[in-house]
Amino acid sequence: MIVAGIDIGSRASKAVVIRDNEIVSSHIGDTGPESVKSSKMAMESAIKNTGSSMEDVEYIVATGYGRVLVPFASENVSEISCHARGINWFYPDVRTILDMGGQDCKAIRCDEEGNVINFVMNDKCAGGTGRFLEMIAETLNVELNQAGDLALESCNAIAFNTICAVFAKSEALSHLRHGVKKSDVLAGLNEAISMRCLNLLRKVNIEKEFTITGGIAKNKGMVAKISEKVGYNPVLAEDPQIIGALGAALFARDRCTGIKPQGESKIQYGYNDATGDYYITIDQSKCDGCGDCVNICPANIFEIYVKNGNQPKACISEAARNKLSQLCPGSQQCNQVQGNNCSVACKKEAIRLSW
Ligand code: SF4
Ligand code: SF4
Repeated sequence: MIVAGIDIGSRASKAVVIRDNEIVSSHIGDTGPESVKSSKMAMESAIKNTGSSMEDVEYIVATGYGRVLVPFASENVSEISCHARGINWFYPDVRTILDMGGQDCKAIRCDEEGNVINFVMNDKCAGGTGRFLEMIAETLNVELNQAGDLALESCNAIAFNTICAVFAKSEALSHLRHGVKKSDVLAGLNEAISMRCLNLLRKVNIEKEFTITGGIAKNKGMVAKISEKVGYNPVLAEDPQIIGALGAALFARDRCTGIKPQGESKIQYGYNDATGDYYITIDQSKCDGCGDCVNICPANIFEIYVKNGNQPKACISEAARNKLSQLCPGSQQCNQVQGNNCSVACKKEAIRLSW
């Protein structure tokens, strides 16, 4: 049986091919401006290495930011589920995952079978994302793949006031003009980003069995700082960047063998920044799909979905996910304007707001 997973991230497209119980090929390429084209190129490159063809692949699952745009995928699954499932293949003991992608960071908690129990994502601010690190590397005129090693040479990390993408760039330039070494600037940024990662991880409980996935897990300087803050050394897959695509391939294999997916029980969306926590959590185990949250929300962020013929559940719509900070004014303002909010309206107490 040949199946495949493809992970279309905002910066890189990754594909993994599994034959029976073995990873037989993987490929990483740039996503570029045309994600449909990138997805085809990534998948064809991965399959070419196996001596098989696209026709031989029984099932393909797509994940990542651009998963809905993969024309040849049989199904798409969230990257959160795929990272948890993918890391479980290599390290079944892992319970806490920090996924550092091109445009957001996620802390994920999973069980012994790689099912997601809880997760938190920070998608509001670019600080600490792959795009942010690319921008800083460009500003410092350093090759991105050397930035991690260079940061490790620092003896005097510079404290950064912000990791806001706009201000951090000008702060980095100002330090350079004052003769600060590039290694100290990079180490200072890694320090600030790792603090933010620590705060995110604390929300899902950090356990000793912890890992980092995504392209940034290849940055040794960043991994060292995060390990220092967390107090544990992460176990790292040989290539942490393909974990999402591997998880997708494993879901594809499940479909071919008739195994149904387990959903996340608590789905948490939002972000935290210097002003506080802004999260909407839906406990799917309590939700009966009544739709009261859909009707009450003036921002239209909720939707009801049905998976595999199971009971309907509420979730945050795909369209609203990456702009919650613009759409939801918060529970207090919602109360003032319409005398109610989603958390109060939910009779099953399935919605928790820290917003
Ligand atoms: S109001 Fe509560 S129980 Fe009803 S669909 Fe929304 S989250 Fe589920
Ligand atoms: S607080 Fe109000 S606007 Fe925000 S998600 Fe709940 S109902 Fe919608």
